[in-house]
Amino acid sequence: MTTDPTHTPAPVRRLLLVLGDQLNRDSRLFDDTEPDRDLVWLCEAPAEATHVPSHKARTVLFLSAMRHFRERLTKAGLRVRYLALDAHEHPGIDAALAADLDRLQPDEVCLVQPGEHRLHAAIAAVCARAGVPLRVLEDGHFLCPLPDFASWAEGRKELRLEHFYRWMRKRHDVLMDDGAPAGGAWNFDKDNRKTFGKQGPGLLPAPLGFAPDAVTQEVMQLVEERFADAPGGLDHFDWPVTPAQAQAALTDFIDHRLAAFGPYQDAIWTGEPYLYHARLSAALNLKLLDPRDAIDAAVAAYRAGRAPIASVEGFVRQILGWREYVRGIYWQRMPGYLERNALDAHQPLPAFYWSGDTDYACLADAVGQVVARGYGHHIQRLMVTGLFALLLGVEPKQVHAWYLAMFVDAVEWVEAPNTLGMSQFADDGLLASKPYAASGAYIQRMSNCCADCRYDPKQAVGETACPFTTLFWDFLARHRERFSGHPRTALMWRNLERLEPARLQAIRTQAAALRDALAAA
Ligand code: FAD
Ligand code: SF4
Repeated sequence: MTTDPTHTPAPVRRLLLVLGDQLNRDSRLFDDTEPDRDLVWLCEAPAEATHVPSHKARTVLFLSAMRHFRERLTKAGLRVRYLALDAHEHPGIDAALAADLDRLQPDEVCLVQPGEHRLHAAIAAVCARAGVPLRVLEDGHFLCPLPDFASWAEGRKELRLEHFYRWMRKRHDVLMDDGAPAGGAWNFDKDNRKTFGKQGPGLLPAPLGFAPDAVTQEVMQLVEERFADAPGGLDHFDWPVTPAQAQAALTDFIDHRLAAFGPYQDAIWTGEPYLYHARLSAALNLKLLDPRDAIDAAVAAYRAGRAPIASVEGFVRQILGWREYVRGIYWQRMPGYLERNALDAHQPLPAFYWSGDTDYACLADAVGQVVARGYGHHIQRLMVTGLFALLLGVEPKQVHAWYLAMFVDAVEWVEAPNTLGMSQFADDGLLASKPYAASGAYIQRMSNCCADCRYDPKQAVGETACPFTTLFWDFLARHRERFSGHPRTALMWRNLERLEPARLQAIRTQAAALRDALAAA
């Protein structure tokens, strides 16, 4: 193992560049490796933790998983050059790579398709400047290669998830019985909208967590020193950092939470960060876990009668459908996707997104949990933090920067389409057929948050008016022209016609004051 940054190894045929979210040993990068002539190259780059502020838990997860991966590679007899954070002076991967290409002069650099356009472009530019050919390999981790997504998308007027998902189900023969969808339907969404009622979720199965081992503890200390001002805390850090832990986390989910995953997918309960969710996104995105294994395990549980079709189909839809679909969209629309701002939103992100310090109970809970753990489940992301930013009219780029910074599973290919497309409608409906706009009544129905809040979800005006409700009506009024004539959205906008003009005016005045107050805070 080579960690000395000034050390020059023997001549290098191929430099095999591994990024922090490419930690799978079965990667195509390692096909035909010649241990004596090829050099695996990994770099812990401070810029990756600072180009947007990165939650401490996110940085720890990436660095710890990378260090564990280094151990696996060296044990397998591969030649590894690992630039640890505290052992080199380069700010970014590009600068570190440029210096090494200069010294090592490899015949070529090989790289699996990165998860971020910016990084891909930077690496390509470094290789071009050094005159070293760059070979970019398709990422075999995913079930839909990018050229296949492009063929699927070609000539379609709309790129809808539902069409893509059914195509993927048939193509990969997942949950299919003699050519028909298992359970008799493609979609069980109507069974998957339960709430916990007034009595709450009761005793929840605690998800399997992983106490930080020596490697993780060392990284935690390093991150606390190097990135002392970074957001978020490490007290709850228990994410899987190795494939064995990721597999154990999958088994734990299948055995204890999958059966109830479907019905309670959309529910929220204060102080319960995980409910029946899988907690597998970070392990999947770092490639510690193969999505095929997650899908196969869920389908096997259904076939064995251990989980109902509505839960298993719901889980498969997320991984075989959404996860692959958003990746296809990202690479189709980059560069340029990050600049989209279809609703012309320019409000600053409220300061409490970085601290959770607000008296809006639902946001205090959702943001507080992200600050503490780097995790929020999908409905918190979409219908609490995302919804508030949408209704307030926050500039999409700022919302994107927050989601990329604050979640342990954030990698741009998956974060950006979810944030800019699904949650903020910034891509003008490419991903979501209509904006996910709702009032405080939605949060009241799906959670217990409003019971302990000083605001009232039914009120749009006055001291106790719920900000979601005020901003919801204001949102409808602001975007009336754009949406009221469209068949998919007209129904929601028709509600606006029932409001008295004077009442709407009062709501809009309250919304403007709220916007000013949050911008000044
Ligand atoms: P579960 O709810 O248990 O779902 C199981 C798995 O399905 C997840 O592990 C994930 O791999 C996959 N999945 C579920 N929903 C989606 C989705 N919409 N897109 C892609 N994959 C999905 N997911 C990320 O992995 N990284 C992100 O940075 C990210 N940012 C998001 C930002 C916003 C605004 C929104 C609305 C969603 C975002 N998601 C992101 C998608 C989703 O919220 C997370 O994947 C999920 O909450 C992770 O928790 P879990 O593993 O417990 O997932
Ligand atoms: Fe959130 Fe409004 Fe409910 Fe308070 S009343 S918890 S702000 S939705």
